[in-house]
Amino acid sequence: METAKSDQAYEQACRYMPGGVNSPVRSFKSVGGGPRFIQKGQGARIIDVDGNEYVDYVGSWGPLVLGHAEETVVAAVVKAAARGTSFGAPTEAETKLAGLICKSFDGIELVRLVNSGTEAVASAIRLARGFTKRSKIVKAAGCYHGHVDQLLVQAGSGVATLGLAGSAGIPEEMAQLTVVVPYNDSEAVAEAFRRFPDQIAAVLVEPVAGNMGVVPPAQGYLKALRRLCSDRGALLVLDEVITGFRLAPGGAQQVYNVSADLTCLGKIIGGGLPVGAYGGRREIMEQLAPLGPVYQAGTLSGNPLAVAAGLATLEALATPTNYERLERLSAALEEGLAEAARETGVPVTINRVGSMMTVFFTDGPVRNYDDVQRCDAGRYAVFFHSMLERGVYLAPSAFEAMFVSLAHRDADIEFTVDQARKSFEVVAAGD
Ligand code: PMP
Repeated sequence: METAKSDQAYEQACRYMPGGVNSPVRSFKSVGGGPRFIQKGQGARIIDVDGNEYVDYVGSWGPLVLGHAEETVVAAVVKAAARGTSFGAPTEAETKLAGLICKSFDGIELVRLVNSGTEAVASAIRLARGFTKRSKIVKAAGCYHGHVDQLLVQAGSGVATLGLAGSAGIPEEMAQLTVVVPYNDSEAVAEAFRRFPDQIAAVLVEPVAGNMGVVPPAQGYLKALRRLCSDRGALLVLDEVITGFRLAPGGAQQVYNVSADLTCLGKIIGGGLPVGAYGGRREIMEQLAPLGPVYQAGTLSGNPLAVAAGLATLEALATPTNYERLERLSAALEEGLAEAARETGVPVTINRVGSMMTVFFTDGPVRNYDDVQRCDAGRYAVFFHSMLERGVYLAPSAFEAMFVSLAHRDADIEFTVDQARKSFEVVAAGD
């Protein structure tokens, strides 16, 4: 596969941007090699600057549930742009998007639009602290909530440990406001509440983890967190930046029948443009300025183009048959990949919830971050490059999700499984 133009573009980019990219994982650092520079996308496919075509399972890391350059989304953005790109004053379209979000999530009575998932979570945390007048946040190891200082904290395993910053530039004093617990371990959360009575403002998790690869919640886990938070006067904050509208219109909360005090959203609600949102119970959300004392603002919040793309996406998505189709395609992909791995003798564990899934290179179950770290990232890198060469674009990191979109066709799934069989053979041959 010819990559001369991508290689040259990367070299140029490195002259002007740290690592040549505006977000680290795009750089291919964890799988090796240089990134492909993308020229355009259409449906389930992306085409790089050398003209190579790939079936795409990154989907801009989740937002593109309708696929690339979906007609109604593009038309909505163009129409909105012609009327003005930003006003810094309210528009009716924002109310429409907010209303759609409130109607979709049982637990959201009021919602605030922001510009990214990171901003949504950072703001939700401030609000949780303002509402409860407490400081500590419990988070689960392996969950990613954006590059918020206090949430970029890695865990040791075991019972609740005070966080150590996972990035330079985060003062230890800030990291210490975060209590890290293992994912899928509600007893560790109970222990955190015992250890820090009346100090915990919020328990924050991804209801289906997507950022250590896909890890579903164990049975009863989310309900146990719900109970603990209610009993102890803390807020349950669910980060549905990936899962919101992907698993169901009401996100993972609809699927697992649990309701958060605050929900964070992003990705799909912006249809591929920069949007985030956080929402929840009225009495909590009314603490926000201009009604209450918790300040949070944004020049481009509720931006007309982003809102138009989000509305067009949610309107096109909102039919049960779409979710059935996503489930059917994703199940076929999971089965195909599992069979290909079995046939080639490569031990894998595939975790899937709806249209998000991860192939972990391990034979054990993957239930938390410790399990994830036992997976063979080297094997993934071999698999990744083999798939890339064969025209399948996966996330350039072993611990991310594959996203299936409504633009994927049965033929794309079959093609992907065929390439996966050959790629598993490459992995097996490398042993
Ligand atoms: N929360 C979750 C669950 C995410 O997956 C992400 C991004 N991958 C974020 C928050 C941060 O969102 P953004 O990159 O839009 O800031």
